Amino acid sequence: MKKIGVYTSGGDAPGMNAAIRAVVRTAHAKNVEVIGILNGYVGLLENKMIPLNPRDMANIVQRGGTILKTGRSAEFMKPEYRAKAAQYLKSHGIEGLVCIGGDGSFRGAQALWAEHKVPIIGICGTIDNDVYGTDDTIGFDTAINTALDAIDKIRDTADSHDRIFIVEVMGRNSGFIASAVGLSGGAEEILTAENVVGVDKIVEKLKDSRAKGKTSSIIVTSEGQKAGRSYDLAEAIRKKSGLDAKVCILGHQQRGGAPTAHDRIFASRLGSEAVMALLAGKANLMIGTDGGKLIEVSLDIVTQNAKPGDTTLIQLARLLSV
Ligand code: ADP
Repeated sequence: MKKIGVYTSGGDAPGMNAAIRAVVRTAHAKNVEVIGILNGYVGLLENKMIPLNPRDMANIVQRGGTILKTGRSAEFMKPEYRAKAAQYLKSHGIEGLVCIGGDGSFRGAQALWAEHKVPIIGICGTIDNDVYGTDDTIGFDTAINTALDAIDKIRDTADSHDRIFIVEVMGRNSGFIASAVGLSGGAEEILTAENVVGVDKIVEKLKDSRAKGKTSSIIVTSEGQKAGRSYDLAEAIRKKSGLDAKVCILGHQQRGGAPTAHDRIFASRLGSEAVMALLAGKANLMIGTDGGKLIEVSLDIVTQNAKPGDTTLIQLARLLSV
């Protein structure tokens, strides 16, 4: 292989730039040229490609977001558009791709392999950590640290005013951010799709805490299917108990910011490993991690399975928040 492409797709995540840098510089060390595809599959279908040199990677390892930009393309879901994409890749002499994204992006990559035999290696990059087959994803550690920083600040004011706070974090279908942030932030209750708790139970717990002498409480909830659902919960708590719960929705700040050391290291390892896998003739794989060790998982398996939710951290948080 003499020329490969790299793109970021779907939701952006801090650490994607560190992964791009690792791809470009590992390829350079192996005398392989790298073409950057802009805006994910949107740019691929618009033939938006730029050469990436090792020096272009200067000063990006610490930057959040993605220098290649990202995008979502409804057209790429259709086979005729993927055929066009394969044609563009061929015309640029691109022999393999590194896809940095989540499970949606991997579905696109898997289709491009199945239909046109374009070798693609996926790198899991999403703040939600909801990709099957890997313990961790690029951006998750940064997102939970951003949310944790906010919770620590909220804790100060909650404590000063003896308040109850509901903190809403990201995670539409997955509760990994909420569970990790809830445990590390000392939350009294963590509400996720895997841990649905009725208002009566929450009120009972809050009253019980107050009776035991606890003066402030933090409830962490994932946004679920409706961002802003915390306001409904606060209202329901007030109606049932008269307790006043304040709401803080963290929102998109969780997507941004400088990646943590953990995410930079992880992204660098994944980016480098993805290039080595392509050069070894591998295809249709995701590089992920299992207990800190890098692993390869077929994109067929990754895209056909949903990562199971986990309530272990939620149970521990409950045990520790007496
Ligand atoms: P993420 O990669 O973060 O999960 P999305 O689910 O938005 O993000 O997917 C990113 C893009 O991947 C989509 O906009 C679409 O272009 C492509 N994609 C998703 N699912 C498929 C699919 N089943 N077939 C082909 N392309 C897909």
